[in-house]
Amino acid sequence: MSEEKKENQFEFKTDVKELLNILVHSLYTNREIFIRELVSNASDALDKLRFESNKGTEIYQNDLELEITINGDEKENTITITDTGLGMTKEEIINNIGTIAKSGSAEFLKQLSEDKEQANNIIGKFGVGFYSVFMVSDKVEIISRSYKTDAKPIKWVSDGLGSFTIEELDEDRRRGTEIIIHLKEDAKEYSEKTRIESVIKTHSNFITFPIKSGDEQLNTVSAIWREPKSSIKPEQYNEFYKFQSHDFEDPFHVIHKAVDMPIQFSALLFIPKKNMDMFGFNRENYGLDLYVRRILINHQNKDLLPEYLSFVKGVVDSEDLPLNISRETLQENVVFSKIASTVTKQVLSELAKIAKDDKEKYAQFWKEFSRIFKMGYADYANQEKFVELLRFDSSANENKDQLVALADYTERMKDEQKDIYYMTGPSREALLTDPHLEIFKRKGLEVLYLYDPVDEFVISSVNKYKEFELKSVDQVDLKSLEKLGDSEDKKKKTKKLSKDDSKELKLLFAKMKEILGDKVTDVKISERLEDSPACLVNSDNTMSASMQKMMNMMGNNETIPAKIMELNQDHKLVRNLLKVFKSDKNDKYITDVTEQLYESSLLLEGYLADPHKLVNRINSMLEESSNWYTEVKKLD
Ligand code: ADP
Ligand code: MG
Repeated sequence: MSEEKKENQFEFKTDVKELLNILVHSLYTNREIFIRELVSNASDALDKLRFESNKGTEIYQNDLELEITINGDEKENTITITDTGLGMTKEEIINNIGTIAKSGSAEFLKQLSEDKEQANNIIGKFGVGFYSVFMVSDKVEIISRSYKTDAKPIKWVSDGLGSFTIEELDEDRRRGTEIIIHLKEDAKEYSEKTRIESVIKTHSNFITFPIKSGDEQLNTVSAIWREPKSSIKPEQYNEFYKFQSHDFEDPFHVIHKAVDMPIQFSALLFIPKKNMDMFGFNRENYGLDLYVRRILINHQNKDLLPEYLSFVKGVVDSEDLPLNISRETLQENVVFSKIASTVTKQVLSELAKIAKDDKEKYAQFWKEFSRIFKMGYADYANQEKFVELLRFDSSANENKDQLVALADYTERMKDEQKDIYYMTGPSREALLTDPHLEIFKRKGLEVLYLYDPVDEFVISSVNKYKEFELKSVDQVDLKSLEKLGDSEDKKKKTKKLSKDDSKELKLLFAKMKEILGDKVTDVKISERLEDSPACLVNSDNTMSASMQKMMNMMGNNETIPAKIMELNQDHKLVRNLLKVFKSDKNDKYITDVTEQLYESSLLLEGYLADPHKLVNRINSMLEESSNWYTEVKKLD
C-alpha cells in the first residue's frame, strides 16, 4: 500500500462512531428514510447553489439544470443519488461528513437512548441525517465536484465502521454530488425502481427541485403555499406539514394566507399538535422557511416570527424581496420587517379566532403552548392582541382546568370595581388557603390565580386591561374595597370589642411590635382577614410579595423585607391573647404566640428559610396544650 493511500485515510470522530454503531446495529424499522435524508441534503445543496448564483458568485458549469436523480441497479445491488448542487471540496467533506459539527449528535444519542422507536422521526432534526445511509449499506462512495471554479473533484469512500478515505480525482466531473450506495443483502429492495418511487412519493414529494429516475420525474414540484386555498385538500396540507416539519402527526391547525397589500406574500403556517420544545432540547430548531418567488432564501428564519410564537412551523414566500438578498441584510430590509410584523399579527388573529369559535380547541392550544406563548408579554407592538389571548385560573372556576380570559373577568366584575385582582402562589391549593384571599371571598370579588412563575412578569408588564388596573391582592388598598359591600350572608357576626378592650388591644399590638422589633414596620388591625388570625402585608404597595421575592432572588438578596403584620381582632386566638395581656402584660405566652404568628405568616409568603425555631416552638406549644387537654379530659 502506498504512503499516499495512508495519508488519505481518516478516522471518524468518536461521537460519529458511536452514532454509526447504533445505526448499523440496532435500528431496523423504517430504514427507507435514508432516501429522504439524502434527497433532503441534495435539495439543500441545490438551494445553496441557487443562492450563490443569485448573489452573482462565479459558478462552475453555471448552466447545468438544477435537479436530483435517483437510480437503482438491481444487478449491482446499488442505488445512486446525484444532484447538481454546490458540491464539496476535500476540506468541506472532511468537515461536513467526518464530524458532527453541531451539538446535534450528543442530543440525538440521548433522545435515542430514551426511545429507539423515535429514531426515524428525529434523525433529520439533529444534523446527522447522512449517516442513516449506513442502515442499509456497508459501502458508500461519494464523488463530488464543488461549484468553486478551481476545485478538484474528490472521491470519499467508507464502510461506516471507523474510517473513510478521500482521494482527489484527475479527470473532470460534472458539478455536484453523486452518492453510490452499495446495499446490504437484506436491503436489496432499495435497488428496485418501484420501491424507490414509493419512498419518494411518501417522504420527498414536496422537494422543490425535480427528482428524476431515468426519464421520469417522480415528484410533483409545486409550491403548494402559492396555490389558492380552495384548490388544496386537507390531506395535502397534512402531507406538506409532515414533510416540512419532520413531524409524524397531522398539524393541530393550518393557517394559509395570501396577502397583496401593501406587500405581496403568501404564508402557509402550522401549529403542531405537540410542543416539540418540551424539554428545552433542540432549541435552535425553529423558524419559518423564507422563499422569494418560490426560491428558498433562508431555512428556519428566526426573524419572521417573535420567539414566543416559535412553535409555529411553515413557509413564507414573497414577490417583493430581491432574490439576491443576503441573510445578513434581511433584518434591515423594510419589506422584510413589514412581512414579519404582518405574519405575527396574522398568527395572533388566528389564535383569537380559535379562542372565539372553539373554546375547547383553544384550551388544548393553551395547555400545550402557554408556557412559551406567555413570553409575548414583551411584544409591546402587539400587546393589545396578546392580552386578549391570555388565560388564567380564577376564584370563579371550580377547578384549575377551567380558563378565564381578562374579558370574562371584566364582564363579571362589580359596577364600582376599578381593579382586576390576582394572586400568585405555588398552586391552586396553596392560594385557596391564603389569608389574603379572605376579604375578597367575603366581598364576593373574583381573583385570578397565578401559579406559573412567568405569570408575575406577564401581569406586571401588561399592568392594565382596558381601563382596569391589575392588582395583586396584597397590594390592594382596602379602602377601595369598602364600598364594594360584603355579600349578605358573610357579614361579620362576632361581637364588637368594648371601648376599653379596644384600647388594650392597641397596647397589645404595641407590645407585639416591640417583640418583633425591626422585623415588622407595624402591627395593626386587619380589615382583610376572615378565618386566619394574622398575615403579613407589604409596607409599600409598589410590588406584590411574590414579585419582590423574585427580584430578591435574581439579585441574590436574601434579606426578608420588613412588612406590616396585620391581626384579625375578631379571631379567637387574638381575643384570648388579649385576655392574657390584660392579666399580665409580660406573660411569656404573648412572646411565643407573636413569634409563632410572624413565622407562620413568613412561611406562607415563602420567606422562611430556616424552620427549626418554628418547629421547636410548635412542639413545645403542643406539649403544653396536651397537658391542658389531658387535664380537661381528666385523663390523669
Ligand atoms: P444536515 O443536512 O442536517 O446538515 P447531514 O448529516 O444530513 O446533516 O449532512 C451533513 C452535511 O454534509 C450537510 O450539512 C452538508 O454540508 C454536507 N452534505 C451532505 N450531502 C450533501 C450534498 N449532496 N451536497 C453537498 N453537501 C452535502
Ligand atoms: Mg441532512
